[in-house]
Amino acid sequence: MSSTARLAGKTALVTGGSRGIGRAISRRLAHEGALVAVHYGHDLGAAERTVKEIEADGGRAFAVHAELGVPGDADTLWSAFDGALADRGADGALDILVNNAGITVPRPLADVTEADYDRVFAINTKAPFFIIQRGLARLRDGGRIINVSSVATRVAFPAIVSYTMTKAALDYLTLTLAQELGPRGITVNAVAPGYTETEINPTLAIPEIRRRYSEASAFNRLGQPTDIADVVAFVASDDARWVTGQWIDASGGAHLGV
Ligand code: NAP
Repeated sequence: MSSTARLAGKTALVTGGSRGIGRAISRRLAHEGALVAVHYGHDLGAAERTVKEIEADGGRAFAVHAELGVPGDADTLWSAFDGALADRGADGALDILVNNAGITVPRPLADVTEADYDRVFAINTKAPFFIIQRGLARLRDGGRIINVSSVATRVAFPAIVSYTMTKAALDYLTLTLAQELGPRGITVNAVAPGYTETEINPTLAIPEIRRRYSEASAFNRLGQPTDIADVVAFVASDDARWVTGQWIDASGGAHLGV
């Protein structure tokens, strides 16, 4: 654990905290002293590995299971969270909620089926909406809600239109909730990654696509999950207490030019 431990005494929940960007966020928040609920939907092994990595680093974490995008998902998540905290003798309150879990639909308008559309909205937009709604009573005053958006909402990107619409809805929720929750001292922000090296992007195995995505960044490389986690850790900390309702680019300057 960090000697500064700026999140000591805080409890965090990271949806999709088991793999990819969420794993890096979980590890970073725990490194800063938070007790982290590492949520997963399908891959228990990945969640357990992330918890073990955190513990090996001197941090505290536990896995929480809930499939998102199905009826009752938010309630399932919160009862798993409450149960796990009760097992640890904790009071069930939360300081930092990171809505990170997500899927993509790499298809243009013409090819998106109704099932694709419903599923991506159910996981990326509806789930965070009701997780927040049902979680607000648990969130302490002065807390944090951080929604993982995408750089795609600031550029035209026909290849992933339905996915980007889910993130644009999350951006609006971020803005509006920041206003609503300001009186409680809760900040609500979106952090927007660009092309980041995770399993959500299997096409990164193709050298030509890898090169193109790298060149989209002003820094001429792909993002790493830790690049995003460092920004989330800042937003989660007291250093960001005066920042709310913002869409924070964490894309390495993707598509600044063309
Ligand atoms: P990833 O490596 O595929 O990880 C996705 C995470 O979400 C996993 O922990 C997964 O857990 C969980 N998840 C997915 N579907 C779920 C479901 N139905 N129910 C419960 N959990 C579910 O993806 P990532 O790249 O880290 O993406 C994280 C976030 O960053 C997403 O919101 C994504 O849209 C956003 N983002 C990513 C990029 C990028 O280039 N990677 C760019 C912009 C934005 P299970 O496997 O256990 O279900």
